Amino acid sequence: MNKKTVRDIDVKGKRVLMRVDFNVPLADGKVTDDTRIRAALPTIQYLIEQGARVILMSHLGRPKGEVKPELSLKPVAERLSELLGKPVKMAPDCVGPEVEAMVAELQPGDVLLLENTRFHPEERKNDPAFAQQLAKLGDIYVNDAFGSAHRAHASTEGVAHYLPAVAGFLMEKELNFLGKALEAPERPFVAILGGAKISDKIGVVKNLLGKVNALLIGGGMANTFLQAQGYDMAESLVEQDSLDTARSLLEEGKGKIFLPTDLVVADAFDADANSKVVSVDGVPAGWRALDIGPETVEHFKSKLAGAKTVVWNGPMGVFEFPAFAKGTVAIARTLAELEDAVTIIGGGDSVAAVKQAGVADKITHISTGGGASLEFLEGKTLPGVAVLLDK
Ligand code: ADP
Ligand code: MG
Repeated sequence: MNKKTVRDIDVKGKRVLMRVDFNVPLADGKVTDDTRIRAALPTIQYLIEQGARVILMSHLGRPKGEVKPELSLKPVAERLSELLGKPVKMAPDCVGPEVEAMVAELQPGDVLLLENTRFHPEERKNDPAFAQQLAKLGDIYVNDAFGSAHRAHASTEGVAHYLPAVAGFLMEKELNFLGKALEAPERPFVAILGGAKISDKIGVVKNLLGKVNALLIGGGMANTFLQAQGYDMAESLVEQDSLDTARSLLEEGKGKIFLPTDLVVADAFDADANSKVVSVDGVPAGWRALDIGPETVEHFKSKLAGAKTVVWNGPMGVFEFPAFAKGTVAIARTLAELEDAVTIIGGGDSVAAVKQAGVADKITHISTGGGASLEFLEGKTLPGVAVLLDK
C-alpha cells in the first residue's frame, strides 16, 4: 500500500480525529453485533498507547440529515468502553462549541466519540464548511473506515483536505489484501461471483476478467448469463436489460468464465417450496433456479483446487432458505479447506453466508466493506483513500 499510516506520523499528545465505521446493528439501545467496533480496536489502542487524544467519528444508519435519537451512537460508546476497559466520553454532536470544549479538555490517552455525523445534511453533501468544522477538532486525520471509503462525504473525504491525513490499521489491512489480489496475485487466481443481480456486478466482472485465471459465476446473476446462452430460465430472476451485456462478457471471457451446469429449482420463491435438481436445459415452466446444483459444486471445486488466490463476492443461491443454501455452504467449505491459498471474501451477504457456514475463521481476509470492496474490485479509486497522504 502506498498510503501513509498512523505509524508514519507522530501522534503523541496530538488530537487525532479518526473516522471509523461504527455503523452497527442496534436493538433496544444495545449493539447486537460488535464486529465493526472490534475491527477498529487495533488503531484505537495504538493511539491510546502513543498518548494521542483520540476523537472518533462515524455515521450510523440513515437519519436523513436530522437528529434521530434511535440512531445515536451512545450505545456504541458504551460497548467500546467495555471493549477498551476504559471510559469513552460521548459528545452531544459532532461539531460546534460544546464539542470543541469537550475536545479541549481531553488528556493524552482519552477517547471521545462524536455523535452520528449524518445528523447533519452537510455530511453526505460533503459540504466544505462542515468539513472544516470537523477538521477544527483535530491536528491529524486518520481514516480507518474502509467500509465508507467509497463515499465522498465530509467525514470520509472532505475533512482530509484540511488536516494531514493517514490510514488506520484496518484500512491498511483491507487495502493490502484487496490490492495485492488485484495487482500481484499468487496464481492461479480464481474469482467467484454470485448474488442477486448481474447489473450490480458488471464492472466487477469486466475488471476481474483481465486479472483472473478463472471466473466462476453462480447465484442469481448466473441466470442472466444462462439465458443469454439460449437456455430457458422460466421464472428465474433474469435481467432482460442485461442480456446483451452478458453475451459480450461471455465472448470476452471465453475459456475463463464458468457457469452452472445444473441448478436447484423451486416451484415457488419460498423456504418450503418443492425443489429438485435439473440440468440447465431443463428448468420446468413455472419454476425458478434458487441454487447451483451438485454437479456445478463439483465442477467449481475442481476449478478451485490448487488456487493460490481466491476472491469471492456474492452467494451461490438464496442461502437465507436452508433448502437453497447447499451450494453456498459447499463453496464456503471448499475455500476454508484450501491450503496455502489467500482467500478473500467481500460483500455483506457473502460474509453472512460464510459465518452461517461456520468457517469464517478459516478465511484469510473477510472484508468489512460491502459496497467499498465491490467498488475496489471494479478497479475504482475510493475517494476516502485517494485523499490520504502518499508514502
Ligand atoms: P453481497 O451482499 O455478498 O454482495 P448480493 O447482495 O449481491 O451479495 O446478493 C445476495 C442476495 O442474492 C441474497 O439475498 C440471495 O438470496 C440472492 N440470490 C442468490 N442467488 C439467487 C437466485 N438464484 N435467485 C434469487 N436471488 C438470489
Ligand atoms: Mg448484499
